[in-house]
Amino acid sequence: MSSDLAVAQRPLILVVEDERDIAALVRFNLEQEGFAVVTAADGEEGLAAVRQHRPSLLILDLMLPVMPGVEVCRRLRGDSATARLPIVMLTAKAAEVDRVLGLEMGADDYVTKPFSPRELVARVRAVLRRASADAGDRPHAVYAKGRLRIDFDTYEVHLDGKPLVLSLREFELLRFFVQSPNRVFDRLQILDLVWGQDTYVEPRTVDVHVRRLRARIERDDAHPELILTVRGVGYKFNDRALAGC
Ligand code: CA
Repeated sequence: MSSDLAVAQRPLILVVEDERDIAALVRFNLEQEGFAVVTAADGEEGLAAVRQHRPSLLILDLMLPVMPGVEVCRRLRGDSATARLPIVMLTAKAAEVDRVLGLEMGADDYVTKPFSPRELVARVRAVLRRASADAGDRPHAVYAKGRLRIDFDTYEVHLDGKPLVLSLREFELLRFFVQSPNRVFDRLQILDLVWGQDTYVEPRTVDVHVRRLRARIERDDAHPELILTVRGVGYKFNDRALAGC
């Protein structure tokens, strides 16, 4: 492998393909488009090349000697260092596509043989673009306090370490509460801030959703300690009750 800087700065694509003609064709087309390319001729060599060269993307043939593409993919996905390495699969049969993209292999995209090199290059570009957009994401906005953890980007909520399934409205209500703790809001304020001013909903809708949310997050929803009722006014979120288990 050349250590030429000009080469190193181009995105490096590893092509794992035992058919020499195809490997050469793919290499030629990728290089024409400005990519740097390394090739490996079987699955084991491919895994070693991933470790050695740390490619930006892997083009992986499904039918490979020594170690099949399925196994290469499985091992890469199972290793945190390579779990997110973008993989474009080459498959001979359209029937394999579900497996290739599915849980079994988790490839990012595929091309069915025989393929047009131009199409393959387009797929490679698209997958790389997606991968770099993901990598460039800001860190997720997360609320974490005591028993509760909320990821505002993925809408995942964990309470006492266990995933909590909330409806979108329940999620938005919870978001509102944790972002404005220890302040009393009346029902109309909550409606405005969570439902928006455009929608017409009865103030008692707030009560219904508070009840549902309590059922999910309170240890004992008959005696709530997080979403407190302030008699004659509305509700307030008591984030102090989140501390401890
Ligand atoms: Ca093959």
